[in-house]
Amino acid sequence: MDNNSLHNDEFTRMHHPENDEQYAGLQVNQGVEQPPMVNPYLRRRKRPTLSVNDYVEGIRAGNTSILGQAVTLVESLKPEHQVVAQEVIEKCLPFTGNSKRIGITGVPGAGKSTSIDAFGMHVINHGAKLAVLAIDPSSERSKGSILGDKTRMEKLAVQKNAFIRPSPSAGSLGGVARKTRETIMLCEAAGYDTIFVETVGVGQSETAVHSMVDYFLLIQLAGTGDELQGIKRGIMEMADGIVINKADGDNKERAELAAAQFRNALHLYPMPPSGMAPEVMTYSGYYEINIDKVWAMIDKYFEAVHKSGYFEEKRREQEKYWMFETINEHLRSNFYNNPEIERLLEIKQEMILHNKQSSFVAASDVLNYYYNNIVKPQQ
Ligand code: GDP
Repeated sequence: MDNNSLHNDEFTRMHHPENDEQYAGLQVNQGVEQPPMVNPYLRRRKRPTLSVNDYVEGIRAGNTSILGQAVTLVESLKPEHQVVAQEVIEKCLPFTGNSKRIGITGVPGAGKSTSIDAFGMHVINHGAKLAVLAIDPSSERSKGSILGDKTRMEKLAVQKNAFIRPSPSAGSLGGVARKTRETIMLCEAAGYDTIFVETVGVGQSETAVHSMVDYFLLIQLAGTGDELQGIKRGIMEMADGIVINKADGDNKERAELAAAQFRNALHLYPMPPSGMAPEVMTYSGYYEINIDKVWAMIDKYFEAVHKSGYFEEKRREQEKYWMFETINEHLRSNFYNNPEIERLLEIKQEMILHNKQSSFVAASDVLNYYYNNIVKPQQ
């Protein structure tokens, strides 16, 4: 005990110059270690490990707890989890594809979560089983996504026919998008016939979402004066429907005006491959005005593309796209995450900066090293 207090005295003198004699009257003691937040004596019950068949059967039976665990596996970065996840997906494959996949985008504050709550309740009240997923490119930085968060969709959150899952948070956009796409498949196998994929309309993520949905809905706001300002051409071209939210109260007229401006602007765009010119509508997610009209517009689209065959054609294109995306992502991560390559790239960057090697020679050196020393020995 005494030893301990001696030790403490020494410690405080060393670490706290305030304890020097010149600061008489001031005393700093060693802090007290805080008890752990979690009772260490409480043994956590470990979940039993499920087999691939347990997962598949649970998913097929619509067990949301097992579905959630399977999605966690899909999102896991651990290779052993990935192996199981891929087997589960493979076995679920025959039961996938039979849903309406709808992408929903809009800048922060456009009213995505309020609208998803309203649209979601609408489809559930018409007998749908709905899964709400998300792709949030910023979630890697913020370590956790807010998109697709249950707390933002109060009404849906308590519905037994709604499954809400936030964006996977780790990895590159390509990786995050692949996980969301795999989650779509698991949800379809679990019987969800309507899938919403939410994303923030600010960057690259729209392209990723566009490549996994049948219909892409762009939520816009009125009242900024120049309505079309700031909307990237690419996003306008991807949209199958544009809806102006918050068309309520004083804002109604401005929303109508914005809608007219969008309709005019759309005339300048070529007809999309679906053969369906995007429609523009006004609605209010919060006051639930025109929700049924927006949904009728989306239903009309699905009916038309089913009839024309474009629905199937687009799905097939997307399948091809995802095969190539998966290969690209695998190759990229295999290459760039290799520690030897990382080191070599650092050296080569220095050489390029100091004009000791051209970028082409440096690139071919690194690639040669990769093929001769990393790829070959694995073969
Ligand atoms: P998100 O960031 O796109 O998900 O937007 P939110 O759904 O969180 O909505 C942002 C803000 O706009 C919130 O304060 C909502 O209450 C409000 N809001 C959303 N929809 C409407 C609407 O239809 N009318 C009005 N007046 N406000 C709305």
